[in-house]
Amino acid sequence: MLYKDIDQNITNDHKALKQSIHDFAMEVLRPASIELDQLTPEQVVEKNSIFYKTMQKMYELGYHTAMLPEEVGGIGFDPLSQHIFFEELGYASAGFAVAIAVAAFGPLFAAMSGQPELIGKITLPFTQCKDVSNFSCWAITEPNYGSDNLAVGTDHFQNPDIVQQVRAVKKGNEWIINGQKSAWISCGPVADNAVLFVNIDPSMGMSGGGICLVDLKQPGVTKGMPLDKIGQRELPQGELYFDDAVCPEDMMIVGPEAYSIMTSATLAHANALMGAIFTGVARSAYDLALQHSLERTQGGKLLSQHSLVQHKLFGMFRKVQAARSLSRTAITFHLTTEVPDKKFSIAAKLTSTYAAFEVANDAVQLFGGYGLSKEYPIEKIFRDARAGLIEDGSNDILAIVGGNQIVKEAE
Ligand SMILES: Cc1cc2nc3c(=O)[nH]c(=O)nc-3n(C[C@H](O)[C@H](O)[C@H](O)COP(=O)(O)OP(=O)(O)OC[C@H]3O[C@@H](n4cnc5c(N)ncnc54)[C@H](O)[C@@H]3O)c2cc1C
Repeated sequence: MLYKDIDQNITNDHKALKQSIHDFAMEVLRPASIELDQLTPEQVVEKNSIFYKTMQKMYELGYHTAMLPEEVGGIGFDPLSQHIFFEELGYASAGFAVAIAVAAFGPLFAAMSGQPELIGKITLPFTQCKDVSNFSCWAITEPNYGSDNLAVGTDHFQNPDIVQQVRAVKKGNEWIINGQKSAWISCGPVADNAVLFVNIDPSMGMSGGGICLVDLKQPGVTKGMPLDKIGQRELPQGELYFDDAVCPEDMMIVGPEAYSIMTSATLAHANALMGAIFTGVARSAYDLALQHSLERTQGGKLLSQHSLVQHKLFGMFRKVQAARSLSRTAITFHLTTEVPDKKFSIAAKLTSTYAAFEVANDAVQLFGGYGLSKEYPIEKIFRDARAGLIEDGSNDILAIVGGNQIVKEAE
């Protein structure tokens, strides 16, 4: 590892954790992600594909429980360890880092509900399982409502003309669900259950939503073809269709009264994770560029000996450092505060994903023609980083949501 960690809070245990996760990620996740990058989306999700085999290895190590506290069987990482974990996974493969995070979304929501029955039904079987048969996902984006679903806190979140299309209607002691989630649901094609964001009260616009845990193996659910996309191709994505799907009463864990708060908290959590993952992506691109500049000679000397290259490398280093500092602060704040505050996580997500994209872009440039070749991992990292500017909310919309919050708080 060329990149030194100067965080004063890092203990020897953190350093050992970082090394072990880094080694695993580079030995297992990086080669698997490169192999999957060359496959069709259908091949990625075939049973026994390298996607499943790699996820299986992470489950065996208990990585699927990285976000869960010890009381419910999780690893019980402190906030800094969580950051280290996701940064190192992101370093090797952004797609696998996202996959292992969303795999735990249902169990995480059940744990957050604090309801012992839900924890017993959803969280404990997940933390106790050591095989990849138990997989969740986060289903919020819809074909016609992408950014609108994340505009929480803004006035248009209350506009009754802008309403989620997936609807839940109460019948007796069950919720009946109809509608479609978009092709962007990460791990949708492989998930057994979903944290599903639905509309309950259309008169409240987007804010009249609900959050429920839905079994995706029931007859009322079908899945679309896995999506073909530019980057993070190791991360399968696809639509979910609900046709009179059933959700038991106790699985609707948030109703319209708390929907905006919980959507805000979910965004704060997801964006904090993205900050850590894309710090790893940025660092990975920086390391490759530095290494290449130490090996490639042009103009009679190594690239690294040209002051223009040193200038460029320092700009890249600065961006990685800024991304890491802010995303560590944001994840620590988010995991230790009782009242989630999304603007810090959004700031971290934007800083890290822009850093990853800009550093990867500079790295491709430093590689010259080799940077465009599939023989080197930098072109994949560049494509992966590009997806990060839209993933978990388009950066432009997230900035509007964060800016809107700042102004409202100041008024
Ligand atoms: C790799 C990846 C993984 C993802 N994983 C998941 C997942 O697990 N679960 C899930 O539910 N979703 C997921 N998404 C979806 C993601 O959250 C959405 O793509 C994102 O919120 C943007 O929605 P959209 O694609 O519909 O774009 P749109 O909302 O149609 O936006 C298109 C453009 O218009 C701009 N725009 C939109 N509204 C406004 C406005 N009011 N004012 C000004 N400009 C505006 C946006 O900034 C953007 O540039 C993922 C996406 C990616 C790329």
